Amino acid sequence: MSDNTIATISSSSFIRPPSSLRILLWDIDGTLMRSTRAGSFKDYTVPMLKEVFGTAGRLPQMKVSGMTDLQIVGEALKHEGFTHEHIRDRVHELRESYMKAMRKFTGNGEQVFEVLPGVREVLQAVHDHPRYQSALLTGNIEPAAYLKMELGGLAGFFTLPGAFGDESHDRRDLPALAAERIRKHLQLDLAPEQFIVIGDTPNDIECARHFGARSLAVNTGRFYSEDDIRACKPDALLPDLSNHELVMQTLAKL
Ligand SMILES: [Mg+2]
Repeated sequence: MSDNTIATISSSSFIRPPSSLRILLWDIDGTLMRSTRAGSFKDYTVPMLKEVFGTAGRLPQMKVSGMTDLQIVGEALKHEGFTHEHIRDRVHELRESYMKAMRKFTGNGEQVFEVLPGVREVLQAVHDHPRYQSALLTGNIEPAAYLKMELGGLAGFFTLPGAFGDESHDRRDLPALAAERIRKHLQLDLAPEQFIVIGDTPNDIECARHFGARSLAVNTGRFYSEDDIRACKPDALLPDLSNHELVMQTLAKL
């Protein structure tokens, strides 16, 4: 057997992990954190779109919860003659302008995001438990996601690579992207049902189902009622993450 063959076999045959291992894929907005003022997202994204594309289109009127940032830009500008391809072509410029606007928005000393009740305790509890590892799966562009985690003091909990809102205009693509990176990172052959998406909107539940992952919905988002969320049939639903023992009991069943 040549060295080449050995290398191919060893890199393609990941170890099968204990079937109890679960990878938690965390949404950010409405799940881990939220803005201290409803609608403040548009304070920095409307000027950013005007800078990059000359218009913010219909963004001021849109309900953006659960959408990826690329999807938000696509929806906002679709009647202005911009296609997904136009937007993808300018994603680097978009990312730079977005972060410049966001740093300005977050840099004036005012608290603009808050960590939701119980989140830190839950992240610590799963971090300390051998059954779980955590990654981000969010509609935020990647640098915005990490800036929010830094501002909230949560960055250290996400030890695995995730998937982000500058990677697709369809959130349903994100779990497979995160899973592929996590399998490679851990060198483990993880089944879709070993992933649990935790989020606050129908799109979080839908992207979990599309991939074959489990979903834990939380009712801490601003835009959906408990009935709206229940209608999407998540595998589990909690009002919030404030009771970390209840969260751990719920996760243990998934
Ligand atoms: Mg959310």
